[in-house]
Amino acid sequence: MQFTDLGIDTRLETQLAHQGITQPTDIQAHAVPTALAGHDIFAQSKTGSGKTLAFLLPAVQRVMKQKALSKRDPRVLIVAPTRELATQVFTQLRLLIAGTAIKAVKILGGENFNDQIKALRNDPQFVVATPGRLADHITKRSLQLSGLELLIFDEADRILDLGFTEQLKMINEQANHRLRQTLLFSATLDHAQVDALSRNLLKKPKQITLSAANEQHSDIKQTLYLADHLDHKEALLEHFLNQDDVGQCIIFTATRSDTSRLSEALNAKGFKSVALAGDLTQNKRLDIMDSFSRENFKILITTDVASRGLDLLSVTHVINFDLPKHAEEYVHRIGRTGRAGFKGNALSLVGPKDWASYLAIKSFLNDELVFASVEGLKAKFKGIKEKKPEATWDKSKEKTAAVKKPVFKRKAKPKKPTAPIKAPMNIDGDTPMRRKKKTEQE
Ligand code: AMP
Repeated sequence: MQFTDLGIDTRLETQLAHQGITQPTDIQAHAVPTALAGHDIFAQSKTGSGKTLAFLLPAVQRVMKQKALSKRDPRVLIVAPTRELATQVFTQLRLLIAGTAIKAVKILGGENFNDQIKALRNDPQFVVATPGRLADHITKRSLQLSGLELLIFDEADRILDLGFTEQLKMINEQANHRLRQTLLFSATLDHAQVDALSRNLLKKPKQITLSAANEQHSDIKQTLYLADHLDHKEALLEHFLNQDDVGQCIIFTATRSDTSRLSEALNAKGFKSVALAGDLTQNKRLDIMDSFSRENFKILITTDVASRGLDLLSVTHVINFDLPKHAEEYVHRIGRTGRAGFKGNALSLVGPKDWASYLAIKSFLNDELVFASVEGLKAKFKGIKEKKPEATWDKSKEKTAAVKKPVFKRKAKPKKPTAPIKAPMNIDGDTPMRRKKKTEQE
């Protein structure tokens, strides 16, 4: 199948061919004609499957071919949860509109507000933005959305997770007119919050689900390793990084301060790593990402800020030095490898502190996680035993029992003096409830 078969203009097809993109991916084959037909879309497709072009292509085509509702307001607004992801989308957009008269601006938090006002006065047709800064521009009236034709949310679930529900409502209200079309994309959309949001934002959406959020990614080999403590994790990490098949590698840690600490430790051992630490300015962060994408260094250490959107085909390994708290985040982190048909490896270190996250991920992915061990670096830690369910007082049972039990009259016994109650009674009311034993670690 060709892009023109999906209704895409030959000029865009030529642009894509310059980037070596000739055949649509599944999500593009489904989403592009649906979006071109004017439908709202609720789309879920795995990481690295070509989602960005699935919404950018119909958007650019619309701007190229259809008359604008307003000459001044932006026609297409793309909202992405993080600056990194917004930058990634903006870069792909710029490639698509190169050589046309279409103007696009990027509105990110952490950048100069007045420069953004100037850029918006230039009447761009496309705005790519993060939600917080976008809401600031709407409030200050430096951005009007009454002429908006296409509203696109990339990684909508993450936008909600980051607490931008109010900003989303505001954007929706500002651009609330009959002709607006809305597209919502992510790799993980089965979220109760997302359902509620989509009911407000989308009009009779076409649902495109190409893979469940928890479906195993066939191009990513996932392996877990038990670890006893920090030093053990570092020893395992060193072992992995010394393997021949490691190209570029992204390591995820729990906190931003851990990124710097780990980077220093690795560099002291002769590896070439850079940390996306918390205290860096936005420009410095973008520089680091850019430099990594040019393969100037092999190892990038980061937190979940880079778990979505980083699109680098040379990343062969993702290593979870610490597991993420949310299972969806695991799917996005490992999705930084195995992109666009390439094979990737995801290695995760699981220590006692990671155990709860491991259980959440295991249940999200329906149990399909494999543990392995490294000779000479086997862990003593074997996991934490599951707690037995607490004994609970089930009132409904009490009532049913009371109704069903026949009532026997007893002979009156001689009254004894009442003893003080020492422990709560069990459901039969005769013996004290036993306390549960503390959970053991193996
Ligand atoms: P995405 O899921 O949008 O982040 O895209 C993942 C990667 O796949 C990016 O590097 C895209 O440039 C690439 N890509 C997107 N569509 C295609 C396609 N039709 N053929 C080959 N590569 C593609």
